Amino acid sequence: MHDTYRDRVRALARAFREAHWPLTPQRMARGIGYTLAYTDLGGPDGMLDPVGKRVLIAAGQSPRRQRFTLAHEVIHHLIQHDDELLSDLHDAFEGPAFEEALEALCNLGAAEMLLPSRAVVEAVAQHGYRPRLIPELAERYGVSEEVAAIALAEHGPGPALALIAGGRPLRVLFSARGKGMRARLPKARGIAADHPLTVARETGLPFRGKAPLPGGRTPLYLWAQPLHGKVYALYWVA
Ligand SMILES: [Zn+2]
Repeated sequence: MHDTYRDRVRALARAFREAHWPLTPQRMARGIGYTLAYTDLGGPDGMLDPVGKRVLIAAGQSPRRQRFTLAHEVIHHLIQHDDELLSDLHDAFEGPAFEEALEALCNLGAAEMLLPSRAVVEAVAQHGYRPRLIPELAERYGVSEEVAAIALAEHGPGPALALIAGGRPLRVLFSARGKGMRARLPKARGIAADHPLTVARETGLPFRGKAPLPGGRTPLYLWAQPLHGKVYALYWVA
């Protein structure tokens, strides 16, 4: 995805954050002139009801997930009402590629809204670009680990990918690609028993060195940190 869209969506998210801080759920919905309703949506995590001017959020999910969903829907609304950005996106992407790009941008914007770049940059400057920041930032900012992973993928020393693995046998639970990272990693991909990620989990010891993505071949820099049965990892291209 062209970097300029990412930057523009992050700017929208930052402006919203500054205008509507503190971001309680009600204030987030009111920020786009909507009210908020938690309801059974039978599948989707959330959706906008432009007629009733309501943001609908799936009931029964964790508060952190609902918060991320709400931010995602707010970004949908902001993009929808940014004529220039919307028409540029329509020029750049068609059909399913448009939907895919839009969803990725809404996730990126939601992450920026809840966990601002500034906080991530400060944490990386202070502690280094380390995978333990995924659970630590999630805890400190009350966001899901997925949000923290998305944010960290944007702030690698080079193009980066953040990954959360878990389960037995070990598999990818979530991954996020940052700016310039080409490699893809499908959700639920299994991780081989001899991969450094699996070895880290089995031994309880972190891994720092070069290794390919699970199922991949090209070696990248990898720092993997096992914690509470999961493995948090940051990959980057130097
Ligand atoms: Zn969406």
